[in-house]
Amino acid sequence: MEFTFTPEEERFRHELRTFLAAQLPADWSERDFLGDVSRDEQRGVDDAVTRALADKGWLALPWAKQFGGLGAGHVQQAIYTEETAYTRMPGGGGAGVASVGPSIQRFGTRAQQEQYLPRTAAGLDRWCTLTVEDDAGSDVAAMQTRAVRDGDEYVISGAKTWVSGAERATYGLLAARTDAKAAPQDGISTIIVPMDAAGVTVRPLDTLAGERDLSEVVFEDVRVPVQNVVGRENAGWYQMQTASDLERSGVGVISTAKANIERLVEAARDDDSLIARNPSARYELADRWIEIQVGFNVSYRVPHLQAQGQQPDQEAYEAKLYGSELTQRVANTGMHLLGLAAQAGPGGRYAKLAGAFSREYLRATAATVAGGTSEIQRNLIAQRGLGLPRD
Ligand SMILES: Cc1cc2nc3c(=O)[nH]c(=O)nc-3n(C[C@H](O)[C@H](O)[C@H](O)COP(=O)(O)OP(=O)(O)OC[C@H]3O[C@@H](n4cnc5c(N)ncnc54)[C@H](O)[C@@H]3O)c2cc1C
Repeated sequence: MEFTFTPEEERFRHELRTFLAAQLPADWSERDFLGDVSRDEQRGVDDAVTRALADKGWLALPWAKQFGGLGAGHVQQAIYTEETAYTRMPGGGGAGVASVGPSIQRFGTRAQQEQYLPRTAAGLDRWCTLTVEDDAGSDVAAMQTRAVRDGDEYVISGAKTWVSGAERATYGLLAARTDAKAAPQDGISTIIVPMDAAGVTVRPLDTLAGERDLSEVVFEDVRVPVQNVVGRENAGWYQMQTASDLERSGVGVISTAKANIERLVEAARDDDSLIARNPSARYELADRWIEIQVGFNVSYRVPHLQAQGQQPDQEAYEAKLYGSELTQRVANTGMHLLGLAAQAGPGGRYAKLAGAFSREYLRATAATVAGGTSEIQRNLIAQRGLGLPRD
């Protein structure tokens, strides 16, 4: 299957590349990959790029113009994702732009749309999604966090975990149980919670790769006005299942895989001893390269179908599954090619590529968990796509 891009889409890609080259510091993608960027520098670049994107109207590119976006088509969104991932651009609006904003556009009240969307599209507010709990991940309907009505307020208690971007978020979109007596799926609401509300505690978690971008968020009798429920009370489960308008191609993951394989190929060309010591790595690199071409096709199929007015759920599960497992294969190939040196982490005397692949390898373990595990994607493809019975 061959996809072509329209002249407008090609023009946009070119303009975006020029923009990224101007906005990102020199050698940014290389330095970031090699771990040569401090947390403060990362945040500074994130803030500056976010502001510049907002000024161009690109931060919330796919949103309707009335909410601060440009109403870009699905393929254009995917091009944006592909290019920004390739350069390792930090920021870019995160969950606020990708999932919370579209949910408020679709289900929120007019007052919520006016209060939250323009500020998010302008890069003034950041969001996190507060959904998963220790005992409610894949089975998210098992959540125990409660929001109990008390006059004009909800009183929230419970804890969410593995939350991305909580430390810098202005607001969180919380999924909480608002009807304890209803069936699990029917008693959940989504509620906007200011992250600086009294009783909210953010506790950073150490990840396998030694990064601190995930947190546990604890709620102790946190009070928010009832107007903060997005749309209808107890409709949260339905809202969370409805993602048809979002950028679902997963092409960013393929683009990152491509950049990483290119780094490995360059390392193998520069240092003959790598392939000499591990000849099978040549074949692995060739296989990964083919898989990346397949990955682009699997991914771009999703926005192309969306652009034709279809809802490609199965294709989106396939893209997520393929991309996340490819991420792990690329990391494995890096470890094989670099041999024993791959085990030397950043700063290590024997480290190759500054030990970046040992970090990529550890980081890659999360790829098949974040955003839904591989087993869940396979279940969805089997049941909803292939019509097989539930397991
Ligand atoms: C990097 C990262 C970022 C994240 N960001 C966020 C965030 O911002 N906000 C948020 O709320 N959450 C976030 N999460 C949480 C993520 O959504 C969950 O980790 C994920 O949904 C899986 O849930 P779990 O970890 O509880 O695993 P579990 O659901 O406990 O699964 C454990 C294992 O059992 C398997 N399994 C479970 N059910 C089935 C089944 N029915 N059939 C077959 N196998 C099954 C799973 O595939 C997995 O292998 C993030 C996670 C990661 C790793």
